[in-house]
Amino acid sequence: MTEQIKKETRKIGLKDIPVAVVSPLKKAQSGLSALASLAKGMRLTFSYFRRPSKIVTQQYPENRATLKFPPRYRAMLKLIYEDNGYHRCTACGLCDKACPNGSIKVITRKGATTGRVELDRYIWRLDSCVMCNACVQACPFDALEMGHEFENAVYDRRLLVFNLNRYAGPPASVMLKAEESLRPAMTEKRDRYGGPVPLNGAQIPVVKPLTIQEGDL
Ligand code: SF4
Ligand code: SF4
Repeated sequence: MTEQIKKETRKIGLKDIPVAVVSPLKKAQSGLSALASLAKGMRLTFSYFRRPSKIVTQQYPENRATLKFPPRYRAMLKLIYEDNGYHRCTACGLCDKACPNGSIKVITRKGATTGRVELDRYIWRLDSCVMCNACVQACPFDALEMGHEFENAVYDRRLLVFNLNRYAGPPASVMLKAEESLRPAMTEKRDRYGGPVPLNGAQIPVVKPLTIQEGDL
């Protein structure tokens, strides 16, 4: 092909500039090659009219209600709840230690009736979590999982700090051994935004703009 490219000198402006001139044959070959490539792509595109079930492009957000995620897709961290409504977390803190970003804070308390350490608040920060799954793998009680909720954009980043436990108290393994009449006294309700930062609805504090000092930029 190199013999189809001639080197010439042309006057551009007031200077003689060396240029490479492509022969008409080479140009024709390039054009045919581009057309063949286009035809190949269009053949694949039009083939989907015959087999629509093979189309992989998702019509998001129109198909939001029917979106399917691969089982290993990771989004929101969740505490797993048994059918009876009790979680499995023993507040051992291993997930807290395993997190490379400090996105988890397990706050414990001493159970009023059991006298044992139990979960008070399970704080998780979506704003710093990288969905690495290390916390899920570290949990010896299979108390955690990565959920599929993916539309998590908010205007206030304080809303990205969650309280994952619905109640403070012992895990299902302890609750189920207790007498049913005693169980309500063993637990205390916790809110989704009820962590150490007041993030619950009307309690959101006024956001003040950061002051920029000279030298910060
Ligand atoms: S998924 Fe990774 S980054 Fe997110 S909370 Fe768990 S350990 Fe931390
Ligand atoms: S979620 Fe698992 S690892 Fe984390 S504190 Fe609870 S029991 Fe321990």
